[in-house]
Parts: sequence; structure tokens; C-alpha cells
Amino acid sequence: MRENKKARKAAIIGGGAAGFFAALHLAEIDPHIEVHIFEKSSQLLSKVKVSGGGRCNVTHACFDNRTLVQFYPRGSKQLVAPFKRFSPSDTITWFKERGVILKTEEDGRMFPVTDSSQTIINCFLEEAQRLGVRIHTQQGVSTFVREDNHWKITFTDQSHFIADAILIATGSSELIWNQLKSLGIKIEEPAPSLFTFNIKDMNLHELSGTSIENTSLKIQGTKLKTEGPLLITHWGMSGPAILKLSAWGALDLKALNYNFTLSVSFLPEENDETLLTKLKNLQSSESRKLVSTFSPFDVLSKRLWIYLLGKSDISIEKNWADLSNKELQKLMEELLHGNYKVNGKSTFKDEFVTCGGVSLDELNFKTYESKNFQVYFSRAKSSM
Ligand SMILES: Cc1cc2nc3c(=O)[nH]c(=O)nc-3n(C[C@H](O)[C@H](O)[C@H](O)COP(=O)(O)OP(=O)(O)OC[C@H]3O[C@@H](n4cnc5c(N)ncnc54)[C@H](O)[C@@H]3O)c2cc1C
Repeated sequence: MRENKKARKAAIIGGGAAGFFAALHLAEIDPHIEVHIFEKSSQLLSKVKVSGGGRCNVTHACFDNRTLVQFYPRGSKQLVAPFKRFSPSDTITWFKERGVILKTEEDGRMFPVTDSSQTIINCFLEEAQRLGVRIHTQQGVSTFVREDNHWKITFTDQSHFIADAILIATGSSELIWNQLKSLGIKIEEPAPSLFTFNIKDMNLHELSGTSIENTSLKIQGTKLKTEGPLLITHWGMSGPAILKLSAWGALDLKALNYNFTLSVSFLPEENDETLLTKLKNLQSSESRKLVSTFSPFDVLSKRLWIYLLGKSDISIEKNWADLSNKELQKLMEELLHGNYKVNGKSTFKDEFVTCGGVSLDELNFKTYESKNFQVYFSRAKSSM
């Protein structure tokens, strides 16, 4: 039986994945703490609902923590110890113990077998009920200040709550960052991470939906480069390779104001020399065939091939034999080093991922406490 009289109160600010998971853990490990979640909207776990296309990509089947941290563009060093304490295996077990079975897809992503994010939401809500976590929706926090030995939380409707401890899990929130700044906590400039590139090229837009299984991408004037699948969209380029580049380059690309030149190789296994030789050989082996109807590269769709011929200023009426050395050189360049002027990125109301926020230097990664306030508490304790 849980005790009715709970001495201490913990306020979790934010009813998203992080807030819920923290609340459930806290309630589980210490039944003497009264755990409250304060969520500003009427919806709990709303991002979990839409994550993974509504299926919720819960974790990743990567069981070597040193490898796992390498997927993080920032904070990989700091994540080693936390993953040692709670890894993807622990996530799988945690859900299994609560009746939620996860499955692994070919690329390592793990989803509930129901293929529905609602399964994860239901699990969290049922656990919260079982553990007596108190949930308050439409309770937006506007300020939290330290008073004597507790925190005074003020809500947007001017009501208050007194807590012994607070846990901030508000995702990317300007208001909360400003509040934390006023408490002396260093906040890194936020920047969107995981976005797609806008390219003003009507001919390219007509290829919308075309995907290329393997490409190699570079951003000129930077060290940013990656390889992977590319997707052409109505507004430019997307797909795993672009999203990866946007995550690793989040800060650099923001500094460039999302204006830069993307260099694309559609045939990453080729180099200038091997490709030029192949193209020259076609002049004799396929001499009478039209360049437009005979593409030597199965990995490129016919529409993409015609587009690349156009970008190389090669008439689609020409036979392979009629191509000049200059045209072959230009075609090789478009296939291996095609330049695309990016001006802008996709804008989502809620970015998939935002980097920045509370500086990693501010946190004790054993407890996730603010180092600032640890000092404050130990000083307060020693003066008691
Ligand atoms: C479309 C989309 C798809 C995604 N797909 C995936 C995926 O497949 N896999 C994956 O791992 N991640 C995915 N993500 C990212 C994932 O959803 C987030 O990383 C995760 O939800 C972050 O959880 P959080 O609890 O830190 O923040 P949030 O989910 O943003 O929760 C923060 C909560 O705090 C509340 N809040 C904010 N300010 C206040 C305040 N002042 N007072 C009270 N409450 C406040 C907010 O209303 C919100 O409910 C996706 C995100 C989006 C948008």
C-alpha cells in the first residue's frame, strides 16, 4: 500500500515524453514523493502521438553504447554514462514489463508491434495512474523561483504551487529558457536540426517523389558531408542523407542563414576518371543511340537522367557519338559534383528536433541536476 501522507512534492513541468518518463521513474523509486506533472496544453504526450509517422519510433536496436553515442551530433561524450545506466535494452525491458512489445525494422528502428503511438501513450497514462502521479493539464508555468527551501511555481492564471524539487521537461520553450537564464543558467542559442533544403529549380521540382538510393553530399565552404538516400521534393531535397546533414550541420547552416551550395554525387562509387572513361566508351559502344533513351546508370530514373542532361546543356536529340568532350566533361560533373543553390529550409510549426537550450556544461550527467543549483543547495544545507 502506498502511503497517503507524502512529505515531499516534485513538480515536473511539461507533459511530453521526457516529463512522463521522469515522473514515472520518480514515483516508482520513491513512493514518498508526491509527483505532479504540469502541462500547459490540454493534450498530453502530443509529440509522441505524431512521432515516427504515428507509429512512435521508441528506440533503436543498437546495443553498443559507444556506437550509439556516435549517432548524436552533439553531446556524444556526455551521453556515454547515461546510456550505461539506461540503454536501449533497458527501454525494451521497461516496456516489455508493462506489456508493450517492441519490434525491430530493417534499419534498426524499433516500434511497438501495434504500429501505433497510442500504445505508448496508453502505457504511460496507465503507469501514471498506477503510481498515483497527479496530472494537471492547461497549467502553463510562467515562472519558478527559489524561496527558502522550496520552489514557488506561478502559472499563467496567476495560481501557485509550492514544490520541494522541480524538473524542467518543456522541450524547446523560449519562455522557460528565459526563466532559466534569469536564474543564472547558461542557455545555448537554439537552432533547428532535422530539416529539408529548399532549392528554387522548377525542373527539379517536377521530379518530386524521385528517390536515389545512395548519394554523396557536400556543403561547399564547410567540412559538412554525408552519404545516403536522397529524395527530391516539390520544394527541393529531403530524405535521410539531407536530414542527417541538417542535424550535423545545424549550427553551421544557421550561421549561413540557410543559403549555401550543396554538391551532389548521384554515383558515389565513381570518380571523375572512371566515369569519364565510361562515358567516352559509350561514344563508340552506343554511338547510334540517343542520349535521352539510353542511360547507362540503372540507379538513376529516366526522368532524373533527362533532367541531368538538361542541366549539362546537352540536347536530348543527340546521339552518344555526337557528344563533344566538353559535353561529356560537363555531364560527368553534373553526375558527380552537381551544384544546387539552397535558399532556405523547410519550416515546421514544431521543428522535429531543436538543438541548443540548456548548456551541457550546466548539467551533472549523473543526476541531471543543474550544477548551479547543486552549489546553491549544498551552500544552503551547510548554512542550516
Ligand atoms: C513530427 C515529429 C516526428 C517525430 N518523430 C520522432 C521519432 O520517430 N522518434 C523520435 O525519437 N523522436 C521523434 N520526434 C521527436 C520527439 O517527438 C521529441 O524528441 C520528444 O517528443 C521530445 O520530448 P520532450 O518531452 O523533451 O518534449 P515535448 O514533447 O516537446 O514536450 C514538452 C511539453 O512541455 C509542455 N510545455 C512547454 N512549455 C510549458 C510551460 N511553460 N508550462 C507547462 N508545460 C509546458 C509542452 O506543451 C509539451 O507538451 C518527432 C517530432 C516531431 C514533431
